[in-house]
Amino acid sequence: MADTDFDYDLFVIGGGSGGVRAARVAAGEYGAKVALAEDDRYGGTCVIRGCVPKKLMVFASTYSDVVEEARSYGWDHRQGPFDWQDFRGRLTQELDRLEGVYRKLLANSGVETFDLRARLKDAHTVELADGTTKTAKHILVATGGHPVRPDLPNAELGIVSDDIFHLDQLPKSILIIGGGYIACEFACILRGLGVEVTQYYRGAQILRGFDDEARGLVAESMRDSGIDLHTGTNIVEMALAEDRKDGPQPTASAASMGAGVKQAAGRSGPVWVKSTNGGEKVFDMVLFATGRDPSSKDMGLEEIGVTLGRRGEIKVDEYSQTGVPSVYAIGDVTDRVNLTPVAIREGMAFVETVFGGNPTPVDHDLIPSAIFTQPEMGTVGLSEEEARDREPVEIYCTSFKPMQSAFAGKSDRVLMKLVVSRETRVVLGCHIVAPNAGELIQMAGIAVKAKLTKEQFDATCAVHPTMSEELVTMRKPVRTA
Ligand code: NDP
Repeated sequence: MADTDFDYDLFVIGGGSGGVRAARVAAGEYGAKVALAEDDRYGGTCVIRGCVPKKLMVFASTYSDVVEEARSYGWDHRQGPFDWQDFRGRLTQELDRLEGVYRKLLANSGVETFDLRARLKDAHTVELADGTTKTAKHILVATGGHPVRPDLPNAELGIVSDDIFHLDQLPKSILIIGGGYIACEFACILRGLGVEVTQYYRGAQILRGFDDEARGLVAESMRDSGIDLHTGTNIVEMALAEDRKDGPQPTASAASMGAGVKQAAGRSGPVWVKSTNGGEKVFDMVLFATGRDPSSKDMGLEEIGVTLGRRGEIKVDEYSQTGVPSVYAIGDVTDRVNLTPVAIREGMAFVETVFGGNPTPVDHDLIPSAIFTQPEMGTVGLSEEEARDREPVEIYCTSFKPMQSAFAGKSDRVLMKLVVSRETRVVLGCHIVAPNAGELIQMAGIAVKAKLTKEQFDATCAVHPTMSEELVTMRKPVRTA
């Protein structure tokens, strides 16, 4: 039963992975009276405009290679055209189904939902967009994040990742700005779907912060697949090509696509860009994958005393509690580790702390993750560069042509790497670049999280013939540092 002074025990703002999990566990398992407000679609970034549709697009994009490879294995398959509209229809249906599942999960747990925007009025009151107010003993903010464009004139001519799933047509050519997760994943996806992809990254190497050798191989593989990747390059000016009669004119492909591609500004057509190296080019479309900011604007947070960081992230302690004791925040809006499973764990820890009476800090250490490039990159723990700054390490690393694609005459390479403490022998980091590295790193993540030693890895018998058997058969370090 709700505390009689309040309408609810818990009011959750935001129906993404973290908010929905917290709401339904608090209501379903602890019998709390819970409400949740969401002004967009249920499921949030992950389900509606992130991980799920992205992964389905990754699957779609890999079939072109599979058909090619199958021919080397004796199959008489021929490559047909990719039908974006057919795929997009199925994708939309699947997302509708998943949103329905999320709504049902909430309803079945007894959570009352409001399809409205909500903001905080005071430490225990939420105001909904229809003007009604609701009071709650605890308020949980789980509003996630949103993509940002750089501060550049005409930046609204470029799309962001949210827009990709709604395109009427795929462009023939695209320029992707950025070198992070989203830029690299969509470069590979769109290349696999037959788009001419150019990528500009302002730094020296894509995927900043990840292991150098691993990201080096990803970059090389992306270039080999036909992505025109330029590092040390950024965009400095952009305009609709038709407004630049003196600049380079659209190529045949850009001109033919322009009319079908709706740009965010409402005007459509190929986009002229000038880069830091002085080059001028025209692309059917520009995608800004230049990072995401926490969605905390106009929520009344600072007015009631909640502290926000420079980018709008809500400042919380290890229990996800803000400086206002009744207000908690989880997920991307706190900008700690911006991954769906982390938001879910933060939601679970919040419920355990507040409704289970068992203060549970969130463990953000040794979180495995995968970047769904082609090949994928799976990673957990310290990169070689991070580790050697902390202590003496041994590096075990092998890179080779995997059996499946080597047989098909392809030059693809994979990489398996372990970073090992010289003193304790504990495996401090594991980095895999390979097909299905996301699946592999989930398993390796258990061993690294359990702080197993190199000798314990080696005591595990190899599974043969696999790529990942190398993780337990690398006898000698390639270097010490
Ligand atoms: P990231 O922060 O990973 O990357 C942003 C990229 O944009 C960086 O390369 C950055 O460069 C560059 N950039 C930033 N500002 C500018 C600018 N003004 N001009 C040019 N380049 C710029 O953000 P993403 O949007 O790719 O992803 C956001 C988060 O979402 C990730 O950090 C991750 O947590 C999560 N995510 C996870 C996925 C997964 O688990 N597979 C998939 C997708 C997203 P620089 O490196 O120099 O700062």
